[in-house]
Amino acid sequence: MIIGGGPAGNTAATHAARLGAEVTLIERDVIGGAAHLWDCIPSKTMIATGGAIAFTRRLEGMGLEQQAPEVDVEALTERIESIKMRLQRSTTNLLTSQGVTLVHGTARFLSANDIEVTTVDDDGVPTVKVIQADAVLVATGTRPRIPEWCHPDGERILTTRDCYPPKTFPESITVVGSGVTGVEFVHMFSSFGAKVTLVVSRQQVLPNKDPEVAAVLEDDFLKRGVSLLKGARAIAIDRVTNEAGVEEVVVRCDDGRVVRSSHAVLAIGSVPNTDTLGLDAAGLQHDGGYVTINRHCQSNVPHIYAAGDISGKLPLSSVASMQGRKVAEHVMGLQKVAHRHLDYDKAASAIFTEPEIADVGLAEADAFAVGRKIRVTKVPFSSTPKALINNDWRGFVKIISDPATGVVLGGSIVGRHAAELISVIALAVTANLKVTDIVESLLVHPALAEALAEAAD
Ligand SMILES: Cc1cc2nc3c(=O)[nH]c(=O)nc-3n(C[C@H](O)[C@H](O)[C@H](O)COP(=O)(O)OP(=O)(O)OC[C@H]3O[C@@H](n4cnc5c(N)ncnc54)[C@H](O)[C@@H]3O)c2cc1C
Repeated sequence: MIIGGGPAGNTAATHAARLGAEVTLIERDVIGGAAHLWDCIPSKTMIATGGAIAFTRRLEGMGLEQQAPEVDVEALTERIESIKMRLQRSTTNLLTSQGVTLVHGTARFLSANDIEVTTVDDDGVPTVKVIQADAVLVATGTRPRIPEWCHPDGERILTTRDCYPPKTFPESITVVGSGVTGVEFVHMFSSFGAKVTLVVSRQQVLPNKDPEVAAVLEDDFLKRGVSLLKGARAIAIDRVTNEAGVEEVVVRCDDGRVVRSSHAVLAIGSVPNTDTLGLDAAGLQHDGGYVTINRHCQSNVPHIYAAGDISGKLPLSSVASMQGRKVAEHVMGLQKVAHRHLDYDKAASAIFTEPEIADVGLAEADAFAVGRKIRVTKVPFSSTPKALINNDWRGFVKIISDPATGVVLGGSIVGRHAAELISVIALAVTANLKVTDIVESLLVHPALAEALAEAAD
């Protein structure tokens, strides 16, 4: 039995069914989960449209006249909804074609073995059933964290879920939180022409990233007119009517600074969807609602697994899916034969800003912190023919390898299509390939990937 139909749940369900299990998937909302409904898909669809607008700024340098496109909010909303529907349909079809039983309902543990499932029919009449299963996967995901000092209203004080697109398009917006989601929202709203202020609690946006990488992004933000409020923490967000009778949102920071804008959006992390799940009734060990797991994604109760954001590991859709796959393999006994353990340190991740940022494996700073000898090679896109042809040579490729063996340990890419290009380094890191394997690959010319071969050399 699988609780939650996001990337973790639906991948586990499909894979377990393929391996011969009888699978029931319980989802209280829609198949595809928050990833399809609120997070990855709608945010990247908005960003793709914003990116197209941002790209028009580069047309002049390509021998074309620049024309600022107008945003058709209705068409944009329809586009987002239709992509969500298509993905929801294709995921549902995949699950049913594998024989997975889908239940539209809400599950909670009564004990480690009994799960109560509540379904509601079209007339709103609830039915409650208690189900048992040989193995249970908890894949219930997370939702945006809302601090006690802020009361989102879905109109001007927004969570990330109110942004696809917002009810009224912001003229100006304050983004609170400068992690991955925060910077993606800065890029998104500034591409659509809003005046953006980013509240950055530290001295660097993306505090956990390589400072060189963060610097390229900060530079782009400043060029676009984004205001960076560094070293400030928001402590209150209120909706007010100013002296001119105009509605605005006031964000107050702990150092006394105040930002006024038409909207504000919170991007300060998430909380687990386990408050009513009965984790304690099932005897599950957890850390503030995040289920504690071993390397097989197994909880302290051997037949109960957890995967995806609820497992407290890397909150990425790609990681959630891979965990789901590994759970299916473990439940069906495949770990005893060919089975590669999930190595979270080798997960590639991307930030969909302009330029894009992507990295995988060992980071330079982490190697220095433990005194590990590494070889770092870096090539700017400004020397790559395709980047010049594209009229966009911002950024670089950095490859980190073992100086003794040449094995690729990690890398980062800042620039156009970084999220696609990082796949080459990710494959090298997972398969323990050497820098020479990249250098000696016969790549396409002209292509941005040539920068990878050059950096590996
Ligand atoms: C704005 C934003 C953008 C993001 N963009 C990306 C990106 O580009 N790439 C990427 O890799 N990651 C991205 N992420 C992260 C990604 O969305 C998550 O890592 C992913 O959704 C986790 O999948 P999951 O299966 O754990 O949970 P979810 O996708 O959250 O699915 C959990 C499901 O469980 C259901 N559920 C919960 N409780 C119950 C219950 N009691 N009974 C039945 N059903 C229940 C929920 O309704 C939900 O459908 C983004 C996150 C955010 C916030």
